[in-house]
Amino acid sequence: MTKITIAKGDGIGPEIMDATLDILMAAGADIETEEIEVGEKVYLSGNTSGIAKASWDIIRRNKIFLKAPITTPQGGGYKSLNVSTRKFLGLFANIRPCKSLHPFVATKHPNMDVVIVRENEEDLYAGIEHQQTDEVVQCLKLISRPGCEKIIRYAFEYARQQGRKKVTCFTKDNIMKQTDGLFHKVFNEIAAEYPDIENEHWIIDIGAAMLADTPEVFDVVVTANLYGDVLSDVAAQLTGSVGLGGSANIGEECSMFEAIHGSAPKIAGQNIANPSGLLQAAVMMLHHIGQTEVAETIQNAWLKTIEDGVHTADVFKEGVSKVKVGTRGFAQAVISNLGQKPAALKAASFEKNARVNLPKYQRRSPARKELVGVDMFVHWNGFDPDELASILQKIEKPNVKLNMITNRGIKVFPEGFKETFCTDHWRCRFKPSEEGLISKNDIIELLSKADSNGIDVIKTENLYAFDGTPAFSLGQGQ
Ligand code: NAD
Repeated sequence: MTKITIAKGDGIGPEIMDATLDILMAAGADIETEEIEVGEKVYLSGNTSGIAKASWDIIRRNKIFLKAPITTPQGGGYKSLNVSTRKFLGLFANIRPCKSLHPFVATKHPNMDVVIVRENEEDLYAGIEHQQTDEVVQCLKLISRPGCEKIIRYAFEYARQQGRKKVTCFTKDNIMKQTDGLFHKVFNEIAAEYPDIENEHWIIDIGAAMLADTPEVFDVVVTANLYGDVLSDVAAQLTGSVGLGGSANIGEECSMFEAIHGSAPKIAGQNIANPSGLLQAAVMMLHHIGQTEVAETIQNAWLKTIEDGVHTADVFKEGVSKVKVGTRGFAQAVISNLGQKPAALKAASFEKNARVNLPKYQRRSPARKELVGVDMFVHWNGFDPDELASILQKIEKPNVKLNMITNRGIKVFPEGFKETFCTDHWRCRFKPSEEGLISKNDIIELLSKADSNGIDVIKTENLYAFDGTPAFSLGQGQ
């Protein structure tokens, strides 16, 4: 018996959760449920995180969490419960299988069978944002080696365990050479440990176009948080409907399983919602906790129901579908098909356990880290970069000189183009006058001089070389 936490959520949440649990119980799932309240009511009671402390304790104790969608109230101040759950519980891997059910659910891609493995904790979703000048705000994109290693290793282990043939990595490392560059580099390192699995890398823009056009050429796709968020919705929709997809959020200790879709408030309480997304999540959960046979039985009964043309309104299509059912009717149809297998669709045949055990992350010995310069970000309302340069040259030190100025990454000094549009946010790079290093004290002195010269420094970024290799971006055009 496995005790799991459930939350019925908002909108269509309660009805699809009831339908899902009815199927699980009828199939003989060996689970006991402990219910918590999350979502709209909790938010509106003044709790900006949408979840009470006591509920966290329950989730952490049971470790397995089946969650229906929730409604995040409009307006500022409310924190996304999904994002906090993923980060607090270290649910680093988001797994979304996207498989066509052709010809029973209309899709332009009959042979699609892709699993998107999305990094779930970092990237632009670290949520570190600042307004720095009147005109410019920034969001920090954080990519870490442990983050990359965990998700990429997960993708390869998952592929091996599920008998999949290929892992594709999507990044934009032609532009983001440090952040996406690290993701790609770690992908190459880990791919080399899995010679039995094919690997490839695509630049995300053309890769996404390929995924939308010929998804059948992809198998497992691993990518960073934001790309994965967007692409997994695209991939789910390509199979015919986002309403059919489930997802697993996997951590080392805890896991959360949920439908891809939201709380669909407009159709709530009408017994018309499709419970398939949450049911698919529940099947992944059973598979994960080792109740493989029950998971397989439910999956095959579900496939048979879809194949029989017993469809909810969202996927019902005249000529293909046979019976239009509501949420409860669909659950009843799945229950009556328990023990049966689909005839035309490929029957599910799960491996014993979907849990992937990764080795603990091993921190490497530190590299030789040298300070080789500093980027000083300045709020300045002028327009002529040469004028800003002459102001900044006043604070130069004999051993530290202004090296370049960029605006939104484009070099505007020395030798900028007058056509380049400039905002009030300037990155001013200072480097040693001769090849060599600078000290933290040099930076402090520059800042102090900048302050006494009325220069509005917003922030600085230290420029480092690791083991002799410069580890920062050049100015575009430099
Ligand atoms: P949504 O996914 O709720 O709905 C999009 C469309 O799909 C609607 O037309 C809806 O009726 C339909 N739909 C969704 N699920 C369906 C189902 N199971 N059966 C039939 N039709 C279905 O997205 P939205 O309208 O953008 O968001 C509604 C609310 O859900 C928002 O408050 C949003 O914040 C929240 N949301 C929650 C989660 C989550 O809890 N994981 C995820 C996404 C959105």
